[in-house]
Amino acid sequence: MDLTFSPAQQAFRAEARAWLEARAPAPGALASLDTAEGFEQHRAWERVMFDDRWSVVSWPAEYGGRDAGIFEWLIFEEEYYRAQAPRRVSQNGIFLLAPTLLEFGTAEQKARFLAPMASGAEIWCQGWSEPDAGSDLAGIRSRASRSPDGEGWLLDGQKTWCSRGAFADWCFGIFRTDPEAERHRGLTYILVPMDAPGVTVRPIAQLDGETGFAEVFFEEVRVPDDQVLGGVGDGWKVAMSTAGSERGLSLRSPARYTEAAARLVALHAARRGGGEPDLADQVVRAYIDAEAYRLHTYWTASKVADGEAVGPEASCNKIFWSETDLAIHATALSLLGPDAELLEPSPDDAGAAHPGPWLDGYLFALAGPIYAGTNEIQRNVVAERLLGLPRG
Ligand SMILES: Cc1cc2nc3c(=O)[nH]c(=O)nc-3n(C[C@H](O)[C@H](O)[C@H](O)COP(=O)(O)OP(=O)(O)OC[C@H]3O[C@@H](n4cnc5c(N)ncnc54)[C@H](O)[C@@H]3O)c2cc1C
Repeated sequence: MDLTFSPAQQAFRAEARAWLEARAPAPGALASLDTAEGFEQHRAWERVMFDDRWSVVSWPAEYGGRDAGIFEWLIFEEEYYRAQAPRRVSQNGIFLLAPTLLEFGTAEQKARFLAPMASGAEIWCQGWSEPDAGSDLAGIRSRASRSPDGEGWLLDGQKTWCSRGAFADWCFGIFRTDPEAERHRGLTYILVPMDAPGVTVRPIAQLDGETGFAEVFFEEVRVPDDQVLGGVGDGWKVAMSTAGSERGLSLRSPARYTEAAARLVALHAARRGGGEPDLADQVVRAYIDAEAYRLHTYWTASKVADGEAVGPEASCNKIFWSETDLAIHATALSLLGPDAELLEPSPDDAGAAHPGPWLDGYLFALAGPIYAGTNEIQRNVVAERLLGLPRG
């Protein structure tokens, strides 16, 4: 692996940096994307990026991308986090569904869904988990049955923990189409508009009180056949492609953690170590882990660029990024001490010394070992599929 960026990649970085410096909203300028107001502000920002073709740089140009490679995407992410630009409200669509659509979608589905996803015109949520099917995803009970007139499907059941399901326009869900088939075989991946008759959305308040989550109820929701992604009964295979993106390269680029680690170093300097000598070790550890994840990702990207798949190694990634995120934020809270609980800046405390977004970041980092498949389940995958250990 050659870690030297080519002149073209350096020029790409400079162009991205200049654009972000000119156009990105200031940190904290938008309301939280887990509120109705903030969701629409973030949607508008997606449109600004799309109009200048920065929203999905690695996608084909016909869908709004730049035909750039995976390394350019990583470079763009580094610049995006460097600019502390807003969180991507369209992340479920552009980072999770889109790679699956590009792999399994028909030409019509790609033409219909990709560009509106990239522009923020249609924002997606993920409808997989159910009250009795989280880790045991194959236990899904929401069903899709053939509609009596033979045209399309009727959906019934309940999904839960849909991130931004309270505001999203579309949902990619997994439904049981064959109750008789072996658990993994009777599932189908279906795309559903959230305003379809029979869809009821009930927001769920999160730890911070905002209602980005939702449970979603389906009652005889009619969807046409052309909203099935992949084959009927192939839902597990299609879903595992999405899960690979969620745990592997796309959802959490290393820039998210290297940027947070750099802020942690600045916080340590500003707080003069928080008075505890061993906190310095934790800062160094967090910084090294974030950097290690960056280098590991470039290594993985090199393999992908050579045509290899990520495979079950994605589970190692997921464990590592979620635990690194938690360690960075827990160390920040230790440095801040009681100040970590300050919600607004006080007049005599500014810059890196102010708690800023650390508390919010910590609360979200707590969820990292749970979403995208819990870390216990990822450790099972590592044990069985990478290490070849017997099933527990
Ligand atoms: C912030 C956040 C966002 C989310 N967003 C979405 C979303 O957009 N869409 C969506 O569909 N879901 C979403 N989820 C749900 C998430 O995927 C599930 O919470 C997760 O898969 C765990 O399922 P569960 O909550 O039902 O827990 P359970 O499956 O009931 O697990 C409970 C505990 O038991 C452990 N456990 C279970 N089975 C095993 C086993 N075989 N071996 C060892 N340990 C085991 C688990 O690791 C966990 O600690 C989100 C969750 C969070 C926290």
